[in-house]
Amino acid sequence: MKRYQVDITYRTNDQCPLCEGKGREIGRLTDDVYHFGNLDIPYPKIGNGTIPIKACTACGLIYKCYVPEQSSLLSVLAKVKDNVWKSNFRPDSHDVELRLIEKVRNKIAHLDIIDIGCSDGGLLHELRKIPGRHSGLDIGIHTECKEYITGEFIQAFIDSDFSWSGVPYDVVTAFDLLEHLYEPTKAFLKFAELLKPDGFLIGQTGNPYFARGDYGGWWYLRLFEHHICWPEETLISAADRYGFTVNITRTRHKGRIAMPSWKKSALWITDRFRNMTLFQKFVLIFFGRDIRTLADPSPQDHLTLVLRKR
Ligand SMILES: [Zn+2]
Repeated sequence: MKRYQVDITYRTNDQCPLCEGKGREIGRLTDDVYHFGNLDIPYPKIGNGTIPIKACTACGLIYKCYVPEQSSLLSVLAKVKDNVWKSNFRPDSHDVELRLIEKVRNKIAHLDIIDIGCSDGGLLHELRKIPGRHSGLDIGIHTECKEYITGEFIQAFIDSDFSWSGVPYDVVTAFDLLEHLYEPTKAFLKFAELLKPDGFLIGQTGNPYFARGDYGGWWYLRLFEHHICWPEETLISAADRYGFTVNITRTRHKGRIAMPSWKKSALWITDRFRNMTLFQKFVLIFFGRDIRTLADPSPQDHLTLVLRKR
């Protein structure tokens, strides 16, 4: 696959994006460039490395000091050859999401739901037999998704000032979303705004415990579109502050639970060889992927959240 270099603009995070507190440097990305589909995106060069990673001394949020401007992110997504997020991270089924929705909405006969980061509409497709308003929000439109939308489609970043119907939902889903936020405070206010009283926010995000202290080398933060990550306590207190009753569990990523066994074996092999430069080059040339971003089979590497609006 032919590769292209794309230069983008970064914005700086001089303070904690959640509470505006001061940060302490806990690591630094060492890669010079991020491989995204068929694109090579250089990281900004800062001192001996690239992007510093900080932990907020007040709330504990972990954040990168340089993140791509939203306009750059959109232009990269428009240029990338295939849907990178779909091929890397969309699961083969939506069992986990469905089970969580069933858990909070016992015997669902009717469901008003909005899937934040609805992508190609995989989850909405699964819900198509349940009556109700099924809506989606994402930064780009996927034509496949439109078929399953019976409510509204909002094209926006969740942490921006977007307008919407104003008719609230029973459930808001935010799977693999909280790590993409630029302004987490604004996102939580929007989650609350979108929900009916007693409504549920359900989602998953990476568990930084599994960086094992090596934040600069952790695959999850090496993704250029992951800007922050949430220690469990930080997520609990933020959710509580924005009006939610919190239930968080440590789980494996939904995509991995749903994976067929051949894929699990491929990940196992990948995990054994992922630090070998030759193997990394091989995978990059033949599959157009940075293999180190694909696999970390820790059994509890994600946090699953079920938050109820008070
Ligand atoms: Zn903070």
